[in-house]
Amino acid sequence: MICRTVCLANQKGGVAKTTSAVNLGVYLCRQGHSVLIVDNDPQTNATSSLGVPKSDIQDNLYDVLTGTIAADQACRKTEIAGLDLLAASPHLAALELEIGASPGREHILAQALAPLHTRYQYILIDSPPSLGLLTLNGMVASRFLVVPVQCEYLALEGMTAILNSLHRVQQTLNPQLVLVGFLLTLYDSRTRLSRDVESEVRSHFPDETFTNVIPRSVRLAEAPSHGVPVAVYDPSSAGAIAYERWAMELAHRLDRLSSTAG
Ligand code: ATP
Ligand code: MG
Repeated sequence: MICRTVCLANQKGGVAKTTSAVNLGVYLCRQGHSVLIVDNDPQTNATSSLGVPKSDIQDNLYDVLTGTIAADQACRKTEIAGLDLLAASPHLAALELEIGASPGREHILAQALAPLHTRYQYILIDSPPSLGLLTLNGMVASRFLVVPVQCEYLALEGMTAILNSLHRVQQTLNPQLVLVGFLLTLYDSRTRLSRDVESEVRSHFPDETFTNVIPRSVRLAEAPSHGVPVAVYDPSSAGAIAYERWAMELAHRLDRLSSTAG
């Protein structure tokens, strides 16, 4: 079995990293794949979006990264068949301080997840809104990078920072990492701003920007409070349909990148 590891990252907050990771996970499952979502964010939003309350996050990524338990013991099933979760913990926020400058500190997630590569076809890593050690570990543990970009003023400036991080990681810690694409999110077709941002991003990154965009959708915003992804909460909503189409597009891109990048 080939395992595809995908990191969703952007140092900007609220650009739909978590929403994209969770819904991608659901639709990849619906395509028949086994999927693990790794919640690599002390905010634990992916964990709660999948119905696991803060009070029930024993066996979480913090315990894995600090060597208390093995990753395969920390993965739990979700209500979606085929979709497993490696839950986050608020303690992850302290990890950077705790492991300080210890050698190999950027590789601990990669090492922890390696034994899971025989168990899942996709491992999706959700990242916190920073380019700190957790995000770095996510990029080092992944073959593929997906960058959600909110359709708002100065979107391009934010993209430069994540591209710089990508290049640094490629040059040193993980030469295998490839950018799969920019996903335009929170798109509001009624506003000039969304249309302008889309055309600007596409003119700078014509090949890297996914064809599918994710519209702003109330149903997408409501779903996490019900502890289920929009794919379950309201599968016929515009947001759910957009994520379903994008998941197909992403899977095709990964097929292509996997066959060309060796
Ligand atoms: P953070 O950086 O804090 O981790 P994030 O990048 O993971 O944030 P999300 O948590 O996925 O972003 O989304 C931010 C907020 O916007 C959430 O309340 C989410 O429900 C909402 N949201 C995400 N996508 C959409 C959308 N297409 N339409 C409407 N609301 C959305
Ligand atoms: Mg998030």
